[in-house]
Amino acid sequence: MRYELHDSRVLTWSLEAHVTTHCNLRCVQCCPLSPHLPAWAVAPAALGEDLRKLARVLKPNIFKLTGGEPFLHPDLPAVLDTVRASGISEQVSITTNGFLAQSAPDAVYERLDRMTLSVYTSAPLPERSITRITERCERHGVHLTVKHIDAFQRITPDAPLTSDADVQDVFAKCWLKQRCHLVYRGRFFTCTRPPHVATVLAAEHPHLPALAEADGLPLDSPDLLSRLLGYLERDTPLATCRHCLGSSGPWEPHAQLPRARATS
Ligand code: SF4
Ligand code: SF4
Repeated sequence: MRYELHDSRVLTWSLEAHVTTHCNLRCVQCCPLSPHLPAWAVAPAALGEDLRKLARVLKPNIFKLTGGEPFLHPDLPAVLDTVRASGISEQVSITTNGFLAQSAPDAVYERLDRMTLSVYTSAPLPERSITRITERCERHGVHLTVKHIDAFQRITPDAPLTSDADVQDVFAKCWLKQRCHLVYRGRFFTCTRPPHVATVLAAEHPHLPALAEADGLPLDSPDLLSRLLGYLERDTPLATCRHCLGSSGPWEPHAQLPRARATS
């Protein structure tokens, strides 16, 4: 895919930030691997620093706060103020499973343009909660999209792909590399997978190369605009693609992992 420029900024569909890595659900095949990651919340100042660098060369149509579950962040209004101040995008959205959204402070709703509410059959949000969230979005002028999700596409393979041709095929067919751009801890990623696959695999396979470093573009790179364009328009797979099915995996009924047992 080729990208257009406007005022020396690359025009893209969206950019997201994982403002938390932990979640109050444990969906099987969670794309950002939340159930397998340690708890973490972004520092607003650090995100702001990344976004200021990126906003000089990137203009996403929409900026999304995702996670994990973003409503678990301890100071979402500060995060949202940071995003606005960066000027990265005119549209700011949040993606949530909804369980904490109904009771979030007005200060969050006041700072949003859009909300995507994912309602899973394996952990259904009560109808009264959807009604309450809908009312609050209407009151604050937030455009709400409710997605009812009863299936997921397998994205994590049981074992690394062994064939280079399979890796190339998964990458070539993967739509996430255009729709799910991520800024995370000082790097830009063409999809949301590398830093989290890296964290999970590093625990099991310490000999593996650092996937997040191999696959992420550092935001303090010289000549960031041309490097960003080259990175986005590449035809070669990421190192992480060997550990991912992208959008090529089979569809399966949505399900939750068992709760992790507390250790003493
Ligand atoms: S609600 Fe979203 S972030 Fe949380 S476990 Fe499910 S898919 Fe992952
Ligand atoms: S790691 Fe590769 S296959 Fe997986 S989502 Fe990213 S680009 Fe697609």
